[in-house]
Amino acid sequence: MIVNKIEPQGYCGGVIHAIKMAMDAAKDPSIKKPIYMLGQIIHNSNVIKDLERYGIITIFEEGLSRLLLLDKIHSGTVIFSAHGVSPKVYEKAKEKGLNIIDATCPYVLMVHKKIEEHLNKNYECIYIGTKNHPECEGVLGISDKIHFVSTLEDIKNLNINSSFVYATNQTTLSIFDTKALFDEIKRKYPNAYIDDKICNATTIRQLAMENQPSCDLCIVVGDKKSSNTKKLVEASKNKGIHTIFVENLEQLKKESLDGIHKVNVSSGASTPSYIVDEIIEYLLAHNE
Ligand code: SF4
Repeated sequence: MIVNKIEPQGYCGGVIHAIKMAMDAAKDPSIKKPIYMLGQIIHNSNVIKDLERYGIITIFEEGLSRLLLLDKIHSGTVIFSAHGVSPKVYEKAKEKGLNIIDATCPYVLMVHKKIEEHLNKNYECIYIGTKNHPECEGVLGISDKIHFVSTLEDIKNLNINSSFVYATNQTTLSIFDTKALFDEIKRKYPNAYIDDKICNATTIRQLAMENQPSCDLCIVVGDKKSSNTKKLVEASKNKGIHTIFVENLEQLKKESLDGIHKVNVSSGASTPSYIVDEIIEYLLAHNE
């Protein structure tokens, strides 16, 4: 079997930054304990388990906002995940007397800053994102004046009467879908200032999928909740390539590799390298 490892692989800068902050806090005796992670620090269950071994407790419940999750924390330190939080979450954590460690990715912080700036200048702000994604929850918590859209239909339904329109987006969306949405915003509001904020790590990985060598199968490795990983799967499928999405080697073992001779392996920006390495080793051994 021929196995092509599609570069880049490994954590993006934002994930490395978030994990390092959490680990440093766990090792530092001067940091107030217990240490809680508000939501999943990144969308990767293996990383969360690794951090648990260092005593970092993840507070997460499907469907509960960061604001409500905070009700479960009464003392110690709270870490905000790479996805960022709304100003209300920040305020509430301060009021509760919690020590705050903010591991928000700098790319996400930039989106918050730009939206705040434009709201202050009385722009109508359009934000493209995925419903219920924690990054969007953080951004939308800045102001209830933000126009949230996910689809072309949502843009068609916008009713904005201003020539000052600012449009930006979640950092981990599909570069292809987002372009189509921005085109529609520009068509509807020709004066709109379009500020594409898809991060470099997401862009480079999606372009690598677009330009991947021909293969019988493309395997994308990552957590099923990871937005940037899901977009890699979509980018590969959109090229008509037989693509599967697995979280680890155990899931791959359930897939049939009959008749597969050439495999491409890609992974999300929050996938640990050791999981990809295990998968590649297995594929190469499958050869023998
Ligand atoms: S995928 Fe992009 S936005 Fe998300 S943590 Fe990594 S660098 Fe930051």
